[in-house]
Amino acid sequence: MIIDQYNRVHDYLRISLTERCNLRCSYCMPEEGIKLRPRSDFMSLEEVVTMAQTFVSLGVQKIRLTGGEPLVRKDAKEILQELSKLPIELAITTNGILLNEYIDTFRSCGVRSINVSLDSLQEEKFNSITRRDYFKRVTANIQSLLNGKFHVKVNAVVIKGVNDDEVCDFVSWTRDRNVHVRFIEFMPFQGNKWDWSKGVSFKDMMTKIETRFGNNVIKLDDGKNDTAKNFAIANHLGTFAIISSVTNPFCDTCNRIRLTADGKMKNCLFSSSETDLLTAMRAGEDIEPLILKSVWGKKALRGGIETMEDFTKQKNRTMVAIGG
Ligand code: SF4
Repeated sequence: MIIDQYNRVHDYLRISLTERCNLRCSYCMPEEGIKLRPRSDFMSLEEVVTMAQTFVSLGVQKIRLTGGEPLVRKDAKEILQELSKLPIELAITTNGILLNEYIDTFRSCGVRSINVSLDSLQEEKFNSITRRDYFKRVTANIQSLLNGKFHVKVNAVVIKGVNDDEVCDFVSWTRDRNVHVRFIEFMPFQGNKWDWSKGVSFKDMMTKIETRFGNNVIKLDDGKNDTAKNFAIANHLGTFAIISSVTNPFCDTCNRIRLTADGKMKNCLFSSSETDLLTAMRAGEDIEPLILKSVWGKKALRGGIETMEDFTKQKNRTMVAIGG
């Protein structure tokens, strides 16, 4: 088992397949984009599979593929097919643009849970947040997943003065759709010009929703390792949730580890320390002790970030180079 000093068992691995993306979301990708690096810096298909097998042999039961945008990787289908042979739950987080090309692969690989990023229900605003105009394609692909009875979560990063006016519209959107909308508090990463004056807290969002939906707001049970606090509106097909890493962290039940596309392990989303597994693996070293040591050294809370002020001082990667 991969366990830390706080007895948290880590059985959920998030693997970033690439730092490339076909969107330029303002809270994720620096305006100028990020410096593209040689392919040899990144895990090959075989290396992704070998890493995954090692983590699974240490007790990992769920793997989520992330990016950048994982589906822009040319061998994404092969990676999905290889990983689907492992005794795990396989899931993916995508921006939804290329989904239509992968629905059959998801079905044949047993991928049932798909997270799609969508920060606005308004085309113009979507285009300004993502700096691209794929709104119709993304929303049509979400509808195809729903028609295909996939478990669809829609992730929306809520930023004051940008899309906080749509929180209740997203909740209304769950009335006739079996979609699970997750509002994410704006988090600091390198290059995203974060300051909490742009943030909308869990409390602020719930005040908006309770003001609009009153007693129809129902608290749902949260899973043991859930990052989100789950709710529903009476008689709505879908549900909504809030992920409050900034104002109300949920680290005491954290079971997550991250592997970046260049093969570095992060024991926490906010940890600035990383363990280079890829170089070790390419040198023929046993990476298991490195994995166990990294998690054993994990901080209790947010990689050691205790206060808002700490957030402003922390050194981390860009979001696109971690994969959320
Ligand atoms: S901030 Fe770090 S420790 Fe807390 S839940 Fe996220 S990954 Fe886990």
